[in-house]
Amino acid sequence: MGNDSIHIVGGGVIGLCSAWYLKDEGWDVTVVDSGDFSEGTSHGNAGMIVPSHFVPMANPRVIAQGLKWIFNSKSPFYIKPRLNQDLIQWLWHFYRSSNQQHVHYAMPILYELNEYSKQLYRELSGFEGFDFGYEDKGLLMLYKTEKQAAKEAKLAKQAHSLGIDAQILDTSDLRKLEPEMDLDVLGGIYFPGDAHLYSNKLMIQLTEFLKHKGVQFKTHTPIVDFELKGAKIESIITKNEQKIPVKNVVMATGSWTGNLLKKANIKVHIQDGKGYSITLNKPRVRPKIPTILSEAKVALTPMGEDLRIGGTLEMSGLSSKINLNRIHGILESIPQYYHNLPLPDVMEKEIWTGYRPCTPDGLPYIGKSGAIGNLYVGAGHGMMGLSLGAITGKLISELVGGKKPSINVYPFRLNRL
Ligand SMILES: Cc1cc2nc3c(=O)[nH]c(=O)nc-3n(C[C@H](O)[C@H](O)[C@H](O)COP(=O)(O)OP(=O)(O)OC[C@H]3O[C@@H](n4cnc5c(N)ncnc54)[C@H](O)[C@@H]3O)c2cc1C
Repeated sequence: MGNDSIHIVGGGVIGLCSAWYLKDEGWDVTVVDSGDFSEGTSHGNAGMIVPSHFVPMANPRVIAQGLKWIFNSKSPFYIKPRLNQDLIQWLWHFYRSSNQQHVHYAMPILYELNEYSKQLYRELSGFEGFDFGYEDKGLLMLYKTEKQAAKEAKLAKQAHSLGIDAQILDTSDLRKLEPEMDLDVLGGIYFPGDAHLYSNKLMIQLTEFLKHKGVQFKTHTPIVDFELKGAKIESIITKNEQKIPVKNVVMATGSWTGNLLKKANIKVHIQDGKGYSITLNKPRVRPKIPTILSEAKVALTPMGEDLRIGGTLEMSGLSSKINLNRIHGILESIPQYYHNLPLPDVMEKEIWTGYRPCTPDGLPYIGKSGAIGNLYVGAGHGMMGLSLGAITGKLISELVGGKKPSINVYPFRLNRL
């Protein structure tokens, strides 16, 4: 094992994109995962690449809305009440970050990250052997009520202040964009600068590409601890007590990162935001443009000939339990926006779950540890980890290589909260 070797723990989109850029820079890369790289949060998500999502999850509106939703069993948001110290600290930091000053600070940062990442995905989609359905079709946000229209108009104004194209559309404009859909809405905002891709295909093709390039993949290898020597990680330790010697480590373990890093005496604040998706196979009609149903917080993405429907954010402590009430909440919202998209008949086994790694300030952790010289972290990308995968991988490879990062990484430092 040479000094130019690196172990990436976690083979979601952040881990694989880090492997992609590190391999390109000549590193000897091994990706270690507790699963087999065939499923997980980075696979079944809504596949949206979202420069339009520049408002962090921590914002003043969310507190009031979240409190209303928490008591409705079909609502898109839930926190399982429990006396858990990490959750309590997370909520405290979330509360403190939910102010206008933070929103203004985070907006240009999130926009720049997403926009750069989109360009990197676009570039990757042109590489030989890749066909993961990348399309620049934008994003529609549909609303039914005057109240939501006012919120979306404010969002469009904020977008314009950042130089983002955001068009407020009435129903006749919307019918031109989505002629096949029988819409029952008041209006919408169109963000032409967004993109989307078929996330499962991206993940499978990236894995194959990296294997071909010589990246090593270790499946079914859960890491539970670290062997530290001074200010360095000597080995990562597996569940069956095997020690894997390492020179450098990237932790890209999504929602599991907070618990794992405690073992190295590093505190990062990440809670899982469980979500569900259902993929309809070749539906008779479907929106052509990725769409968010604004009041319902449901995402619909055309992927190949399929349609993926996703929603809900439940903080329930990495529980895999499927809450059917919330699935009904997602499905029942659809015919309220489209008369010709009937309620799909979904079996429980067709419901996919994933865990958004959410930070309290809505910014990811991308950085080098101050305390442990050979440790790097890429985690906590919340509801936009797919979108930010490519730029995070690039930034991690630049940090590991000691280069000047393409984007200032100070806002993403590990010890900021
Ligand atoms: C319903 C839903 C819709 C979404 N839609 C979008 C969208 O449209 N656009 C967008 O940008 N984002 C979206 N997201 C969010 C996005 O999917 C996540 O932010 C992203 O996948 C997180 O990637 P990750 O690599 O950090 O984590 P993960 O994909 O969770 O990968 C972490 C990996 O670490 C491994 N691991 C964990 N613990 C260990 C351990 N101890 N040892 C070894 N390996 C371990 C896991 O097996 C896993 O493979 C959505 C999420 C959900 C749930």
